[in-house]
Amino acid sequence: MTQALVFQLQSLLGPAHVLVGGDLAAYEVDWRKRSHGKALAVVRPGSTDEVAAVVRACVAAGTSIVPQGGNTGLVVGGTPDASGTQVVLSLQRMQAVRELDAANMTVLVEAGCVLQTLQEHARQAGFLFPLSLAAEGSCTIGGNLATNAGGTQVLRYGNARDLCLGVEVVTPQGEIWNGLSGLRKDNTGYDLRDLFIGSEGTLGIITAATLKLYPLPAATLTAWAAVPGMDAAVQLLGMARARLGAGLTGFEVMGQFALGLVAKHYPQMRVPFVHDSPWCVLLENADHESEAHARGQFEALLEAAVEAGCVTDAVVAENIAQARQLWHVRESIPLAQAEEGLNIKHDISLPISRIPAYCAETDARLAREIPGIRLVNFGHLGDGNLHYNVQAPEGGDPAAFLREQEARVNELVYEQVRRFDGSISAEHGVGSLKVDGLPHYKSPVAIDMMKAIKRGLDPRNLMNPGRVVRA
Ligand code: FAD
Repeated sequence: MTQALVFQLQSLLGPAHVLVGGDLAAYEVDWRKRSHGKALAVVRPGSTDEVAAVVRACVAAGTSIVPQGGNTGLVVGGTPDASGTQVVLSLQRMQAVRELDAANMTVLVEAGCVLQTLQEHARQAGFLFPLSLAAEGSCTIGGNLATNAGGTQVLRYGNARDLCLGVEVVTPQGEIWNGLSGLRKDNTGYDLRDLFIGSEGTLGIITAATLKLYPLPAATLTAWAAVPGMDAAVQLLGMARARLGAGLTGFEVMGQFALGLVAKHYPQMRVPFVHDSPWCVLLENADHESEAHARGQFEALLEAAVEAGCVTDAVVAENIAQARQLWHVRESIPLAQAEEGLNIKHDISLPISRIPAYCAETDARLAREIPGIRLVNFGHLGDGNLHYNVQAPEGGDPAAFLREQEARVNELVYEQVRRFDGSISAEHGVGSLKVDGLPHYKSPVAIDMMKAIKRGLDPRNLMNPGRVVRA
């Protein structure tokens, strides 16, 4: 039966686009190398019709499908399980920017388009596509929508959901739903678009999307500030919001140990204030007037913040190259953390006002209960989103640490998240890493509604099973 399916897929797509055997690690192993799966085949359809034909063939054979974009997801959602029975459906070949509508300020793009390619396409047409994250050189629009990705500009422009006006989807039955309208208002019943955004491939395959564009700012400036504590960082955020208004497009917080890992593993990088300050903040100000106006605003803000005691030192990038260097330091934290060894990641969100208390209490509990633990804490403070990550004690065996302590660490961190009214997944999604933990931290009513939706749209549970919610 499985061989018959492979032959059928080959006849639908051509043998070159049905990969079986050989080295399929790029499709079978997740970005963090935590899961090593085995696929029956990797298929690479080149059009929406081909995606639909693949889905119909798999459904007829009772074979489950794992949609995949750039495979940069961090919760093991886009790679197959170890059974060797699943088909990985890669959107890699569907990369076209189908249409840019300047008057409507929208762009219609296929799901496999790499985020950075779309950003550049928009810029060349005189527009900004603001979604931005460290994986933008390889993650895809389909993956961004399927995970409702966040990144560094959410504070001003929202997450992937807020940037999307319409989607085209292949349903679990192999039908095509064209919901690509570029409408900003459409109250004609349930919002099906929003159902697919954030569904991590469990309800259907996103094949294309209509996305919002924005005017390019006249100038974008970046500053780096040393702050004495998390409470000072929150105070600075309030001041920046009040003074910069909609110009404040990024507000990233980085702990000293996280920045120390960048300095350690990438000694060629200059990391400002890494030895002098427990926390640093990276701010971005996008101004629609002029660079001089943006610089004046930034300098006035930082002077006021020094006077208020929430900033101890600061630099404003002189030019684009310096700004890029500062962002590069921030974006290198996950890579430096990976260089340091296996680690436990948490992508949590909290009410911003409660973040200082959360960190103070949780840091202390972890230090007390798991001696030697090292915290790699950084994140998008402007959105209340922390990557509250844990590295094994210095000199220990990270693999053994994970085996023995991961469950305990997760329980403690997430229990604290619940106490502080937060979420255990701010932007990375649920995948298979958090699927069994989620029911402990989400309302049973919400989980039941999610299961009902899953059963309703995918009654045979063939669309990325075992991810997000157990059917
Ligand atoms: P994949 O990893 O291929 O898939 C992710 C999930 O989406 C899987 O469940 C998959 O089945 C599903 N999927 C993929 N394509 C489709 C489709 N067309 N239709 C239906 N389902 C689909 N995320 C953030 O939100 N913010 C960040 O700041 C951020 N920073 C990152 C930094 C680094 C260094 C890395 C490695 C990752 C980061 N991520 C971040 C996580 C990741 O980049 C995002 O989740 C991204 O949106 C995934 O896109 P992808 O194309 O790689 O999707």
